[in-house]
Amino acid sequence: MRLQQLAEISRKKLAEAGIDNSRFVVLLLAKEFLSLSGADMILKNTEEIESPLANRYLAAVERVASGEPIDYVLGFRDFLGIRLKLSHSVLIPRNETEELVEIVIASENSSRVFADIGTGSGAIACALASHIPSAIVYATDISKEALALAEENAKRNGIHNIKFIEANNIEGLDSFLEHVEVLVSNPPYIRTTDMNSLDLAVRNHEPRIALDGGEDGLDFYRKFFRHLPFGKRVYLEISQYETEGLIGLARDLRGYCYEFRKDFLGNYRFMILHPED
Ligand code: SAM
Ligand code: GLN
Repeated sequence: MRLQQLAEISRKKLAEAGIDNSRFVVLLLAKEFLSLSGADMILKNTEEIESPLANRYLAAVERVASGEPIDYVLGFRDFLGIRLKLSHSVLIPRNETEELVEIVIASENSSRVFADIGTGSGAIACALASHIPSAIVYATDISKEALALAEENAKRNGIHNIKFIEANNIEGLDSFLEHVEVLVSNPPYIRTTDMNSLDLAVRNHEPRIALDGGEDGLDFYRKFFRHLPFGKRVYLEISQYETEGLIGLARDLRGYCYEFRKDFLGNYRFMILHPED
């Protein structure tokens, strides 16, 4: 099949499936699955594409048309300059999480020992470890599959200053938690009752364990605050709808003061805790 025909079939299929930016998606998939740039798509448009290659490309188009997030189809996502391999065992790292990491890097670049609790693809841990090369980063997750992928992502990016630990929240981490200065986490925080109203792309394709924060969305934070030792600096991603609930939880927390910060959209999406003076 000629490239021009392949591109046109694909664009139509995506547009009919209600994918808005179908032209852009055609180009993204061509780059990944046909190794062709945007310029190639014009200059080589009369070239024949061999069937196995064309079929692989069309299968990817089909996945996007069926509503699967393009990041899973491409198999990777770029996060603060680091390319992360993705699988359905991990959440697709989000822009607001990049903002969280930027806050941490700006405030903590002379700190040494960090922990990323619920590392998923390894996004936060890899970004911290690579942008603060003198750091030691502990990356934990309750999911074995996620942890294996996070470890692979660190290796692929030549990052060697991360230690990976399978663990549930911060319970039982006492031995190394002692040395950790900065705790960072983007935990599951969607209320169980809201799970059904999530975007279909999220609900049908991203792991529930990464999203479902229990009845009030606060299960993870409740347990985290209960086991938080004195004297840490903590950076948490939160839902904009949970500030009241989090203020309630923080009331029982001794030895800490806290603040909320907004993301670039102006929503309170980060909670930062510091030891009281
Ligand atoms: N840190 C990644 C990011 O920002 O893209 C993933 C965040 S995802 C919202 C939450 C992650 O926490 C998932 O990888 C999930 O497996 C993990 N998780 C859920 N419950 C956990 C628990 N109790 N203890 C440790 N990790 C947990
Ligand atoms: N921001 C994600 C979403 O809107 C949720 C991530 C999380 O629960 N930490 O789907």
